[in-house]
Amino acid sequence: MREPKRTGDRAPWWRRPLDWVGRLRQDPGTTNLRRYAQLIDSIDEERAPLRMVSDGELDGHIVGTGSVSLSSDAAVVRFLAVASEVSHRRLGLDPFRVQLLAAVNMLRGRVVDMATGEGKTLVGFLVAAGLARSGRRVHVLSANDYLAGRDAAAGAPLFTSFGLSCAAVVDGMSEAERVAAYRADIVYATVHQVGFDLLRDRQRTPTSKRLVPDLDAAVVDEIDAVLLDDAMVPLVIAGDADPIPEDAALTGIIASLTVDEDYTIGEGHRSVSFTEAGVTRVEAGLGVDDLYAQEHVDLLTAAHVALHAQALVERDVHYLVADGKVRLINDTRGRVADRQRWPDGLHAAIERKEGLEVSQQAEILDQMLVETVARGYRSITGMSGTAFEAAERLSEDLNLRTGVVPTNHPCIRRDLPDRLFVTAEQRDTAAAEAVREAHASGQPVLVGTSSVADSERFASLLTDLGVDASVLNAKNDAAEAEIIAHAGEYGAVTVSTQMAGRGVDIRLGPGAAEAGGLLVLGVGRYDSARLDRQLRGRSGRQGDPGVSVFYTSIEDEVVTEQLRVGYEPRSVSAEGRISDSKFLRLYEHAQRVAEGKLLQLHRTTRNYHKTTDRHRQMILDTRERILGDPEALDDYLAQVWSYESEKAAEWGSPDKRDLAVEAVLYQLDRAWTGHLNRLAATREGIHLRVLGRQNPLDEFNRIAIEDFLALGAESITEVRDTLEEAPDDATSLADLGLRRPSSTWTYLVTDNPFGSEADRIVAFLGKVVRRNRPPSISYT
Ligand code: ADP
Ligand code: MG
Repeated sequence: MREPKRTGDRAPWWRRPLDWVGRLRQDPGTTNLRRYAQLIDSIDEERAPLRMVSDGELDGHIVGTGSVSLSSDAAVVRFLAVASEVSHRRLGLDPFRVQLLAAVNMLRGRVVDMATGEGKTLVGFLVAAGLARSGRRVHVLSANDYLAGRDAAAGAPLFTSFGLSCAAVVDGMSEAERVAAYRADIVYATVHQVGFDLLRDRQRTPTSKRLVPDLDAAVVDEIDAVLLDDAMVPLVIAGDADPIPEDAALTGIIASLTVDEDYTIGEGHRSVSFTEAGVTRVEAGLGVDDLYAQEHVDLLTAAHVALHAQALVERDVHYLVADGKVRLINDTRGRVADRQRWPDGLHAAIERKEGLEVSQQAEILDQMLVETVARGYRSITGMSGTAFEAAERLSEDLNLRTGVVPTNHPCIRRDLPDRLFVTAEQRDTAAAEAVREAHASGQPVLVGTSSVADSERFASLLTDLGVDASVLNAKNDAAEAEIIAHAGEYGAVTVSTQMAGRGVDIRLGPGAAEAGGLLVLGVGRYDSARLDRQLRGRSGRQGDPGVSVFYTSIEDEVVTEQLRVGYEPRSVSAEGRISDSKFLRLYEHAQRVAEGKLLQLHRTTRNYHKTTDRHRQMILDTRERILGDPEALDDYLAQVWSYESEKAAEWGSPDKRDLAVEAVLYQLDRAWTGHLNRLAATREGIHLRVLGRQNPLDEFNRIAIEDFLALGAESITEVRDTLEEAPDDATSLADLGLRRPSSTWTYLVTDNPFGSEADRIVAFLGKVVRRNRPPSISYT
C-alpha cells in the first residue's frame, strides 16, 4: 500500500491556498477542495447581516432555509450562514472557516481529514442538520455509546432551533425507547447499535415493532476506525439453545499437559499443535484409541480449542475476568469490548479454564459484518484525523473521496524519529527514563501502549522511577474520558492503549505549554502507520506546542511477526540504541508487511461474506413482503399447496392467515439459521480443500449457492408439514409445537483467534504430516 506524504502546516491556509491544494494533487482516493474554498467567503458575507438581527428575526431566517435541497451552492451557503449564527447563539461556538470548509465538503458527500482537536463534532452538527433539513434521515455514527450520548446532548440546542429532533441510541434502552429514538430526524449511535437493531428487526414477527427505519444518510465520526479497522467484525444475534455436553474432563487433561513436551507453540505465538506424546496423553485421558478417527471429529476439535484456550489465550492480554465473567479485550483498541465473545467453543473453554460458570450456549440466528451495515446506507460521509491515510481504501472499498482540511492554526507539534533499541527491555528502560525526565520539567506525558497488560507493566516501571501515572484500565468509556481530559495538565502522566479515551479533547493546563506541551510517547508501533498517527495526533491540537516520539525495538511484535532478522545491527550504543538506518527502514518495512496482510485478510473475509449478504437480502425481501403484503402470503401458500388450492385458501382465510404468516416466517428463519450454521462449518473446514487443489473461495461459493437454492423448497415443505399437522384450534406457534428462542442477545465476534486462513492451513497440514496419516476429517 502506498503511504501518502503529509507536510506540516506553516501559515493559515487561506493565505497559501496553492500550497495546500498542491499537496493533494495525485494522492489516490483524495480530492481537491479548492473549488469550495470560495464558498467560505460567500458564507461569511451572507452571515454578516445575521449577526445584527434579534433572536426572533433569526428564527424567521431559519424558517427561510426551509426544507430545501442542498444541491445548489447558493442553498449550501445560505444554510451554513444561518447555521453558523445559530451555533454562535445556541452553542456559543463560532464555526471556524476550516470547519465550514469541512461541512461544505461533507454535504457534498466527501470524507474529510481533519486533525484531532479541530472541532469535528461541531462539523458533524452542521452536516447532520443540513442533511436533515434537506429531508434526509440522518445517523451520526460515533465511536462509542458515551460519545453518542455526549454529542447528541451537545448538539440538541442547534438541532431544535432548526425544528429537528435528535436522539441517541445506546445500550440499556428498551425496545420502545429504541423505536422512539430511531424516529428522530438525527440519531446518534454506534454502528454496532444500528447493526444489532437491524439484526433484531430481521427476527421481527407480526406483533413486534420494527426498530430501524430504512437507512438513509450516515455521517461517520472517525470514519477509518469504523469502515476500515472494524469493518470485518461480525455482529451476531443469537438465541438460546440446548447446552452442549460438559467438557470438564477435557479441560483437566489439557491443563495437565506441558509445553514443548505435549504441545508446541508456533512462531509468533499464533498457533499451537499437539506433539505425538500430547496426542497419546489426550487419547489415554479420554479413553479413545484414535483421536483422529472420523467418529471423534468433535472431540478432536474440542481438544484443539481447549489447547488453544490453555496455551495461547492469555488473561489480561486477551481478556479480563470481572464479576465472574470473561470479558474480551479488543486488540487494536486495547479496551474491554462490551458484549464481545469468541466463537462458542473457545469462549466456553476459557470459562472452564478460569473455573467460571459456562455461559449459556447460543445458537447463531443471523450475523452481519460492520461493513455490511455501513453499505446499507444510501449515502455515507464522514470525518477523521487520519482519513488521508485511509483515502485509497475508502475509495476502493466504498467509492468515497477524501479531502484534507487544513488546521485552523498551523500545527507546530514536533514528530521525532523513532528511538530503536535491540531488546524490548532496553526500549522500556529508555522510554521510562524519557518519561521521568519530561515529568521532572512539568511536561505532561501521554504514553501509548498496545495492550492493557503493557500499560500496567509500563506504569509499574514508572512507579519504580518515582513517577505516578494514571493508567486507563479500559473498563469504562465515561471514566476514561474523565482521566484523558486531564492528560494535558502540568506534570500529568497518563498511560493508555492506543484508542482509549478517544474522541475526548486533551487541553493543555496552565503552565503545560511553557513546559513543551503534551509529549506523546508510543511504546512500540502498531500494526499500521495510520494508528501510529492517530496517537501522535493527540498532541499539538489547535496550534499547541507538543512532541511525539515512538520507542521501538526489534523485538516488537510488528517486527517479529513479520520478519526474521538474520543479522546484527552494526552500531549499537551502550543502552542498546540502534543508529543503523538499515534497521529503521527494516522496522517500517515490517509494518508495511503487517498492513498488507491485514488488508489481504479483510479482502478474504469480505469475499466469503459477499454471497451470503446477497442471499440474506433475498430472504429478507421475502420476509418483508410476507409481513407487509397480503398478496405475498397468498402467493406463498399457493406454492405450498400447488395442487390443493382449497388448503391454500383455508390458511389464507381471515381467521387463519395470521398464524400462517407466523409459521412461514418461522420456517424461513429456521432455514436461514440452518444455512448459516452449515456455512460456518464449511468455512471452518474449507482450508482442507487446498489438499484437493480446489480454490477454497470458489468451492465455498459453490457450496453456499447450492445450499441456498435448496432453502426455498425446504421451507415450503416445512410450512406444509407444520400447517397440515396443526390442531384445528391452533392460534399460536406454540400450538403448532414451534418455539422461537425465548431470548435473543447480540454480540461481536472478535478477530479469529486461530489466525489467518493461511496460518490454519499450515497448522493443519503440519498436524496431518506429523501424524503421517491422510486427513480423515470430512466437512461436507
Ligand atoms: P475533534 O473531534 O476534531 O478532535 P472536538 O469536536 O472534540 O474535536 O472539539 C475539540 C474542542 O474544540 C472542543 O472542546 C470544542 O468545544 C472546541 N471547538 C470546536 N469548534 C470550536 C469553535 N468553532 N470555536 C471554539 N471552540 C471550538
Ligand atoms: Mg472527535
